[in-house]
Amino acid sequence: MNLTFNSKNLQMYSIKYCAIIIIIYLAASITNVYSQNNEAYGPKNFKDRLNSELTNNFHLSDQSDIQSRDYLVFSTSESFELLFRIEFNDSTNSLILDYYNNIITNRDALETIFQITNLDLINNVETTSIDLFTIQPLLHSYFSIGSNDSNELILKDRATIEFDANEVPSFLAFEDDSGYLKAAEQYVYNSTVQLYVKNPDWVSKWVKHMDSSLSLTLDKNLATTVKYSNAYNTFDLRLETGSDFNPKSITWQTNPFAQYPTNTSSYYQHAFSTDQFSNDIDVFYKQQFRENAESEQNAIEYLDSIEKFLIQNGEKLRYQKEYYLSFRERLLQSTISSSDIYNAELDQHTVSEVYFTMAYDSEGNYHPFMVIATYNISEGPNFLIDVARPPGDGSTNSYETQSITRNATLATHLMKIPLKDYGLVDQFSDNDLSEFGTLASDVGISVDQSDEYSYASLRDMGVAIDGVKIYPSYNNTLNFASAAGEISITGIHVGRGMDLHYHADGHAYNGNGLNLYNAVDYDGRTHAPMIGFSYDGILLFGRYENESLEGFNETLDTFGGHQHGDYAYHYHAFSSEKEIVDTRTNQITGSFMHHHLFVGAFKGNIASIPGLLETNTSQVKSAELAKYVGGDGTYIPIPLNNDVELLIIDFSLEQNYPNPFNPSTQIKYALSEATQVTLEVFNSVGQKVMELVNTQKPAGYHTATFDASGLSSGVYLYKLTTPLFAETKKMLLIK
Ligand SMILES: [Zn+2]
Ligand SMILES: [Zn+2]
Repeated sequence: MNLTFNSKNLQMYSIKYCAIIIIIYLAASITNVYSQNNEAYGPKNFKDRLNSELTNNFHLSDQSDIQSRDYLVFSTSESFELLFRIEFNDSTNSLILDYYNNIITNRDALETIFQITNLDLINNVETTSIDLFTIQPLLHSYFSIGSNDSNELILKDRATIEFDANEVPSFLAFEDDSGYLKAAEQYVYNSTVQLYVKNPDWVSKWVKHMDSSLSLTLDKNLATTVKYSNAYNTFDLRLETGSDFNPKSITWQTNPFAQYPTNTSSYYQHAFSTDQFSNDIDVFYKQQFRENAESEQNAIEYLDSIEKFLIQNGEKLRYQKEYYLSFRERLLQSTISSSDIYNAELDQHTVSEVYFTMAYDSEGNYHPFMVIATYNISEGPNFLIDVARPPGDGSTNSYETQSITRNATLATHLMKIPLKDYGLVDQFSDNDLSEFGTLASDVGISVDQSDEYSYASLRDMGVAIDGVKIYPSYNNTLNFASAAGEISITGIHVGRGMDLHYHADGHAYNGNGLNLYNAVDYDGRTHAPMIGFSYDGILLFGRYENESLEGFNETLDTFGGHQHGDYAYHYHAFSSEKEIVDTRTNQITGSFMHHHLFVGAFKGNIASIPGLLETNTSQVKSAELAKYVGGDGTYIPIPLNNDVELLIIDFSLEQNYPNPFNPSTQIKYALSEATQVTLEVFNSVGQKVMELVNTQKPAGYHTATFDASGLSSGVYLYKLTTPLFAETKKMLLIK
């Protein structure tokens, strides 16, 4: 079997590496080590973040001048002690409007934040008044405050028109009536015209707080004063014009919103929620379905077999197994805590299944994959309403006459992450994308005029650890999506098919705790969290948050990736300064920071990956691709050579290489079990000059890099210490 590396260097490297990895595999009969590895970790999921303690200040102050799309906290008391709040009621399985004054967790704070929107903007309902607004909970943008027959204020589900026959959707339009909140109009959904229609019989009422309820009264004298505070002191929710995510200050587009999708199946009818998808998958692979101890064990064992088989054939997995297993586990933990997807249900998974497959192509080459069956939805709020210039719905040729996409729906994708190390390319153009078209070719630019940003597929190029697609940094007119004002504060937007996807790293933009990954994820870690996988099989980690992280000094290449220590080549999110160009004059008018998730070009060699970029579920029926996604009847037992003897690796510390060295050298060591490890460097008089490793490490071989740039020539000692083993060796720095 051939190794498909393009450069000689890489080939030599990989052959050397293969020899080592055989031993690693044989030692890897220890299962579950992946969960002990400090570095193979994903970000905290949104639900856990909601339930963790609020670290920002919960600071409220009077705000009299309110504007559409402001995020506000409402209070019925002068001192902001009684706040409007939404809660999920487990017994009634519904959202209720309540009041609350005890803020401990992120959830407590976020449940008191509401967005107000001008009636015109959100409903396309004709009204000339700019004073009328609707009130939506931040965490549940598809709900609005309405009322019931008993005049209680309640949350009304404005969006799921098709799914709930029992409830007539409606909402209230409020105005600020000199300190009182007046429900001036009511809009009721009319299924005949499929629009919200003003209720002609509605009589103005005012909000009243009494005992433990919020209600409406016809008598203004009985009303309660309502105060507003902006929420920005607690969470940075604003997408400011002139900011990194809208550097050209593109104005908020007033095109009508694309209509809520019609004839969309509900979550309960969705292919991934019913047996529809499951019936198409081979019974063998289905043993890895759903997150439970048994399926996890099946996934681990099958991945072990894949690795063993690759080694038998002189090939290898690109990363240690723990990275795939940890990624799988985190994908399966992701559930939604925010009603921000049209036909989703609270608490549903964002990813249905993650399983490993392996099949051979017509030439007898094996291709193992991690298959991700995803709904392509995020866990938290998407802030789509705040995007300045979202993509049009494509209904006409001109943006001005199109509706724009501010609604996200459940999708159905089957993504394949190649597990085998297919090698890397040197130049972006070494990968042939002609079959798919590139962003550059789409606007008539040739390959030799392209760069890593423009030489990107027109389609999604990877998947985030919440199961949502990632597109390159550029949009399809070769503009950075952020510079075009197209994305939300979380780096996301919806395309024409109403599918969500990331274009940028919202974490770096505002670090407000509501992003794909957040500052809290770095606590006690030595490398950034895993946040995605590219379809070329390369892992994506979060940005370098501080210089103490491993690999900080290893510059990212033009693909946005690098290699250091134990880590095979991987991508990182990063920020870089880009020019603002005036599209009319072609003049550079300034610069901004673009926060990249993916540059665009593939660094992984994609030449022999079957079904690259194909994410449609029709793959399970495809004569060519069904076997790679585990289609029914496609499983073939992996022909393992059972005569291979299991070797046990010992603790050891190898001589550094090169030695003597200037200025850096590599130190390899082996661990027979997962353990706490320190690797320290001392000078010749025994003073510690550097700590290279101080963390939990999995069993296997590891490499640390010692960079002695700031040190003078001489003999140095390096010492490896674990609770069961210690050894010291000498090395020589000659400058
Ligand atoms: Zn896009
Ligand atoms: Zn790194």
